[in-house]
Amino acid sequence: MSENRLATLRQEIDRLNQNLLSLVQHRAELVLEIAKIKQAQGLDGYDPQRELEMLQSLTAKVTGPFGPEEVKEIFKSIFRASLDIQDAERRRSLRVRRRDLVPAGGIRVGDVAIGAGTPVLFAGPCSVETPEQMEEIASFLARLPVAMILRAGAFKPRTSPYAFQGLREEGLKILRETADRHHIVTVTEVLDTSTLEVVAAHTDMLQIGARNMYNTELLKAVGRLGKPVLLKRGFMATLEELLLSAEYILSHGNDQVVLCERGIRTFETSTRNTLDISAVPLLKSETSLPVIVDLSHALGRRDIILPCARAALASGAEGLMVEVHPHPDQALSDGFQQLDLAACSKLVEALGWGVPKPPAVLAATEQTLGSTPTWSEQHEI
Ligand code: PEP
Ligand code: MN
Repeated sequence: MSENRLATLRQEIDRLNQNLLSLVQHRAELVLEIAKIKQAQGLDGYDPQRELEMLQSLTAKVTGPFGPEEVKEIFKSIFRASLDIQDAERRRSLRVRRRDLVPAGGIRVGDVAIGAGTPVLFAGPCSVETPEQMEEIASFLARLPVAMILRAGAFKPRTSPYAFQGLREEGLKILRETADRHHIVTVTEVLDTSTLEVVAAHTDMLQIGARNMYNTELLKAVGRLGKPVLLKRGFMATLEELLLSAEYILSHGNDQVVLCERGIRTFETSTRNTLDISAVPLLKSETSLPVIVDLSHALGRRDIILPCARAALASGAEGLMVEVHPHPDQALSDGFQQLDLAACSKLVEALGWGVPKPPAVLAATEQTLGSTPTWSEQHEI
């Protein structure tokens, strides 16, 4: 008799479990529908006030074996699970994860296409210093047999306030005039919203530096502007945070975003930062935006640039950034990591990108890709 009763009760429990399951599933469908409506209104899915009211009404007149505290715990875990599926749904539906973001021709900066199958070299000095320095670099880079974007900072985010801060507007003018003379396109960093207009007026692509990856007002402003953006990963940022920073730009109207891995901070001291090669395939599996690797700021040294460049390209990077200076020893910033012109030539040749023309214009150089001061002597992030 009691055996029968036990079997019947278990059957009843199984039936109730199925009913509870279809009820919580139905509830989850409604939650997702509500989340969609709220998202369209720009509202967050989490509403603590509403949760509190639901718990109060559920525990106000509790009857049965479960007391108010147990009822609260049961429903809180249902609420938590509902938020988790909303988060997962939101993450999946971000614009940055869309596969159709970048046209087949890639992201265009003038006549250079990033993410269209041919790797792009972002090269130039850390900082614009003089018209002569820029002329020497640009006339060299313009002859390299590779799709090229001239990089140089005019507004510099330095670790120390006493270090060279850049030539600011004067630097922007030198960069623009030099690039125009050699028909090259440019990228330069914009540090804040107050200088965005003047920086944008002088460059073809805007760089958001590692320190500014979290500057949401700046991200929104470059989103509204609509110029191509090179967005660098913060040195303490996860890939999800980088994608969300890109989302700020995309969601404000600008899909022309290129992501840049530039090394992250770890306990390792033999390089300036730690080059996170895994970031490249991981980002590419999450987004169709092009991904490039900045070897100079990741490594802070020249001797391992070539194998790391190879690793970056093999892992799917659509471009490389290297700092290049005609006289790195005299550079006003990051001299320890900049390639001289001959070393840059060797790098391009070693990567199989072709022989620079004309090949013999470069003075003999002390610098080789195999010798460099080690990063530990420096103090920049
Ligand atoms: C730079 O590219 O000039 C620079 C400052 O890099 P990061 O923002 O990656 O430090
Ligand atoms: Mn630099």
